[in-house]
Amino acid sequence: MPIRVLPEQLIHQIAAGEVIERPASVLKELVENSIDAGARRIDVEIEDGGVRLCRVRDDGAGIARDELSLALLRHATSKITCVDDLERVGTLGFRGEALPSIASVARMRLTSRTAAESMGHTIVADHGQLSSLEPAAHPVGTCVEVRDLFFNVPARRKFLRSERTETQHATRLMERLALARFDIAFSLATGRTRVADHAVAETQLEREQRVAQIVGDEFMSTALYIEHEAAGWKLSGWLCQPTAARALPDLQHFYLNGRMLRDRLIGSAIRMGYRDVIFGGRHPAYVLFMQIDPQLVDVNAHPAKLEVRFRDGRHVHDFLFRTIERVLSGTYAGAALGAPPPARSDGWVPNDSPMWPMRGPSQGGLALRVAASG
Ligand code: ADP
Ligand code: MG
Repeated sequence: MPIRVLPEQLIHQIAAGEVIERPASVLKELVENSIDAGARRIDVEIEDGGVRLCRVRDDGAGIARDELSLALLRHATSKITCVDDLERVGTLGFRGEALPSIASVARMRLTSRTAAESMGHTIVADHGQLSSLEPAAHPVGTCVEVRDLFFNVPARRKFLRSERTETQHATRLMERLALARFDIAFSLATGRTRVADHAVAETQLEREQRVAQIVGDEFMSTALYIEHEAAGWKLSGWLCQPTAARALPDLQHFYLNGRMLRDRLIGSAIRMGYRDVIFGGRHPAYVLFMQIDPQLVDVNAHPAKLEVRFRDGRHVHDFLFRTIERVLSGTYAGAALGAPPPARSDGWVPNDSPMWPMRGPSQGGLALRVAASG
């Protein structure tokens, strides 16, 4: 066969293959866009497991009329402008690929309005063709509708599972996103039924209620809350007590700078923190949030961005491992830990750095106050 340049639509479809595996991956991209747009409320609706319809509405900044068709162009993004920006990506997206990729494997309708506009506009992408812009009554924010996923990619369609399974994937995904941002209200409906509804969680109690709603009361009733900060690095969230470790690694939520990750290095660091207190074969459960300087991670390592590259992986590993190990051993000794260590300019957390403040479960559980100074 002679070499030829592939048609645009096929290029998009190949790119879509990397990130769009199933309806839940569509939702991930769309909801992350809503989060990047500063939404305070994100409402998601799916039909037929998301295959027939995924609809994501937000009250974020919206897309101006003149930019609507640009949003559907490949490598068009409002989130980075130069290679230096890649070193400090603060948004979840930056590749400018999600919308055109999705539009190449489904039918998409994008409706949006910015605060500066008196009305919204709609654009439809079908078979790689963009419609002309139509005015549409719409509140400030964006609504993206994706219909008939993979209608033109039979090979992919074959890999879709039953409606029930796809709905489960979509539900799990929404749960993971809702854990990431307590300051955003999320809802999920399948057909006419609301399956999840999370109001903005402002207080610690509300946050714990959201976590309990998502991962279960059982976890929350005994979980340890930790909040540890050293040299600008922060780790907070909930850890299971060693006795509540699970048979499966099915309750492990980790967010780095607001991005959900399934990273091997992180998983193994946390496991190691539990190593002395957990029975072999059991798995820790956690909902943890880590904040570090975005310049220390390269998020451009994985198309779906579930893995990252750390500039100093060992440091990250040790920070997590030592913090968790100390939290767990502190719990058992019931000892109060001391004041925070002086930060070292190189960001290194000394081995003996204590943590603070930390306290045990709310939800009427026993309050373990391990450390409270700081
Ligand atoms: P990326 O998120 O990597 O920039 P996308 O293809 O997901 O690429 O989106 C392209 C652009 O469309 C975004 O950079 C953003 O400007 C705009 N956009 C997409 N979704 C939304 C939304 N819900 N609200 C506001 N702008 C959006
Ligand atoms: Mg995006």
